[in-house]
Amino acid sequence: MTASPAPAPVRFLDLAAQQARLGADLRRRIDAVLAHGQFILGPEVGQLEAALAARAGVAQCVAVSSGTDALQIALMAEGIGPGDAVFLPAFTYTATAEVALVLGATPVFVDVDPATFQIDPAHLERRIAAVKAAGRLRPRAVIGVDLFGQPAPWEALGAIGAREDLFLLDDCAQGYGARLGGRPLGGFGHAAAASFFPAKPLGCYGDGGALLTDSAERAALYRSLRTHGEGASRYEVLRIGMNGRLDTIQAAVLLAKLPHFDAELAAREQVARFYDGRLAGLVRIPARVAGATSAWAVYAILLADGAAREAVRAGLAAEGVPSAIYYPKPLHHQPAYAAVHDGAALPVAEDLAGRILALPIHPDLSAADLARVTGAVARALGRAEAA
Ligand SMILES: *Cc1c(COP(=O)(O)O)cnc(C)c1O
Repeated sequence: MTASPAPAPVRFLDLAAQQARLGADLRRRIDAVLAHGQFILGPEVGQLEAALAARAGVAQCVAVSSGTDALQIALMAEGIGPGDAVFLPAFTYTATAEVALVLGATPVFVDVDPATFQIDPAHLERRIAAVKAAGRLRPRAVIGVDLFGQPAPWEALGAIGAREDLFLLDDCAQGYGARLGGRPLGGFGHAAAASFFPAKPLGCYGDGGALLTDSAERAALYRSLRTHGEGASRYEVLRIGMNGRLDTIQAAVLLAKLPHFDAELAAREQVARFYDGRLAGLVRIPARVAGATSAWAVYAILLADGAAREAVRAGLAAEGVPSAIYYPKPLHHQPAYAAVHDGAALPVAEDLAGRILALPIHPDLSAADLARVTGAVARALGRAEAA
């Protein structure tokens, strides 16, 4: 008997399959940009902005060079800087906190909810009260992160933000496409920052991002800031800005992808349901945010502890199933932020970082792939228990 060859590994992200699905439209749109040659702020950028705003149900969209730059431009437009406190969850990607520090402001880390992993509004209130009592920093902004594609608790954040007169920014990098109470993300908070990094639910083929807002004033500032603070004419410099524009070619890629986005979101939801069904009795599956849909940027399970996670990760790898850890450290434990952190305990973020594990989730996973993923998790857990 000959051993059958090991099947190809499951892919954590399958951009080749995605390209094949998009077909000729992708190349046609890129070719059109090559033909007209307006690589900076060509007509596709404006078309994309209109489409993204309409999808999100907001009046204004300003396409920018990345999700990180979207966050930074949003804070720059509010004049946030030294002496200002920007509240954000400790359990997120570094970009959320980085932009505050780049502008000289101070990130204040907030713990997250143990069920949904989203920022904990009760802890946010305590953190705001503590900052006010200490009197060193002025509370200015809250960045809610739609972690893993599920909405942050926008109703509670909106109430706290209004009461405390804070700028409310939605870090929608993982959540563009999700809904809360039937409304698409992008319209919660004063502005929302989306990312089109290739691995996000709506990804382009390079870096890209967008700002969404209902405020025409903010949108005008964002347009100025993304082009070096320019005024009505190109060489009038009104303020200090940055080079933060979205490339026309990336806009063309996103225009080709947008018609497929709803089907992709539905396919991600199907993957999540399959995983839920097979894994519910074995591990902690993702808790759904009430009244919401998810963009399923990440499907993360919780293992009993770090040793169980390592065992499952190794078992999956041995069966050709990739996994990833978002995030191995809460931000306040990262070297770059340790000196900024005020020492507050953030036990939930610390606990999650020690035992969370993300499984592959994207629209191009086959039924066989899904069965391989859940089978490998079950077998790895069986071995971990027997050991
Ligand atoms: C990816 C991501 C960003 C940054 O987006 P880029 O487009 O990579 O700059 C910001 N916040 C969160 C939560 C992200 O996941």
